[in-house]
Amino acid sequence: MARVGFIGLGNMGGGMAANLAKAGHDVRAFDLSADALARAQAAGCLPVDSAAAAADGAEAVVTMLPAGAHVEQVYADSLGGVAASTILIDCSTIDVTTARRVADNAATRGIAAVDAPVSGGIAAANAGTLTFMVGGSAEAFERARPFLEDMGKAVIHAGASGAGQAAKLCNNLILGSTMIATCEAFVLAQRLGLDAQTFFDIASKATAQSWSMTSYCPVPGVGPESPADRDYQGGFAGALMLKDLKLAMAAAADAHADVPMGTRATELYTAFTEAGRGGEDFSGIIRMLADAAR
Ligand code: NAD
Repeated sequence: MARVGFIGLGNMGGGMAANLAKAGHDVRAFDLSADALARAQAAGCLPVDSAAAAADGAEAVVTMLPAGAHVEQVYADSLGGVAASTILIDCSTIDVTTARRVADNAATRGIAAVDAPVSGGIAAANAGTLTFMVGGSAEAFERARPFLEDMGKAVIHAGASGAGQAAKLCNNLILGSTMIATCEAFVLAQRLGLDAQTFFDIASKATAQSWSMTSYCPVPGVGPESPADRDYQGGFAGALMLKDLKLAMAAAADAHADVPMGTRATELYTAFTEAGRGGEDFSGIIRMLADAAR
């Protein structure tokens, strides 16, 4: 088993670091929050007092931070003491440009890095069932893979540096759009006198089938259990969906890609968040659409 530095022990990173410790690794954990550090200690990690101390002597350094600026700062603070044999694994969701830049900067010091954002929320982070989409060289991917396998159920090499973030943003572009389409169809179906369960039974077996419909139905009491059954609490927050859609919009602008559905989804999740509902699960947007239709 290896020594692993883990930086960013929040909602996602806390469970991920705990799973690395459970797999037998010597996890040196750092976060700016004392509470997060205490939880990591209770989960079997050794708390340290800086990002540099977490990275020092580590075989792998995992980061799970809010945004690109945090990743850039943590790498700037800690790379000085990192050996060339260390693999840097950034699991945060950040913009493609920053992901490529931090990997290029590491490469100039002879250090390999991958971007490895995740699909799956807090429950999957705690359960060790995340899906990782990984950008980096084939060699860097193979070095990162065993650590990612200790935290997830699927580890997929998406391509060169930045490709993991590109896959994540494109995935969530579809997710945000299909969720809104699913929600507006349920609102309309109910207005047209269709029973929600009956519509689900039909659409989930017809061409409207999608993950938003069949695995994460936005209507309470319909389909498998989802945040809709818990008053839209405890899933993937609307504010995080908006963050990912904005990253997708920025990437689309850079790549000169036309993304009309993503643009509208971004507008609607902006309205959802500005209405003070950004902490609700993103499927809660069905209530905003239903209210607007009154
Ligand atoms: P979070 O805010 O709960 O955790 C981030 C942690 O980073 C916090 O504990 C914070 O104190 C710490 N931090 C910030 N700057 C730091 C620094 N300089 N040094 C050390 N620690 C620092 O966020 P989260 O929900 O765990 O999300 C983390 C990442 O995972 C984000 O990029 C997010 O987009 C992505 N993500 C989240 C989810 C989800 O459901 N929450 C799902 C998929 C991906």
